[in-house]
Amino acid sequence: MDYDTFGSTAVELAIDLANAGRDADWVPAFLRAHDEWFEAGTVLDLTPAEAAQAAETADLVRAVAVAGSQPEVIERLNALLALASPQPYATDHDGALHLHYARREAPALEQLTTTVAMGLSQVVVQHGWQRLGVCTAEGCDNVYVDTSRNASRRYCSNTCASRSTVAAYRARRKA
Ligand SMILES: [Zn+2]
Ligand SMILES: [Zn+2]
Repeated sequence: MDYDTFGSTAVELAIDLANAGRDADWVPAFLRAHDEWFEAGTVLDLTPAEAAQAAETADLVRAVAVAGSQPEVIERLNALLALASPQPYATDHDGALHLHYARREAPALEQLTTTVAMGLSQVVVQHGWQRLGVCTAEGCDNVYVDTSRNASRRYCSNTCASRSTVAAYRARRKA
């Protein structure tokens, strides 16, 4: 991973959200696992309606990642951006200077949606929507953002990459 050329790790929040498993109460669990993106003191328990909106945001991220043409990407990205309320500010709370995209006092859902929309759209407009993809490992449909220098990524994770390498090796031995 080389984030220096990408300027923002907020896109990783978007990807993680799109890939999050959706068992009961997955939204507060997700928010707590990514609490570095939320202003200290933000209430991370959402109402059922807010949780449904978080799921809608996750669906839109996936829709952008699986889009097959630039017009599709633009339409879906704009649907996602319409949910955002950006009011960026610079911070170095973790030691590194970076931007947060939502106002500090925004509720958790607004912080989530705004950070995800801004992080994803920045990468798409700066590096191309082809940088987003779906894992090609069998049985996995996670989405990913390809931050490799030569845009060669095909898997969501090292786990899927090595699983596929092993499967291909076995298939070759059989043949
Ligand atoms: Zn931060
Ligand atoms: Zn995968």
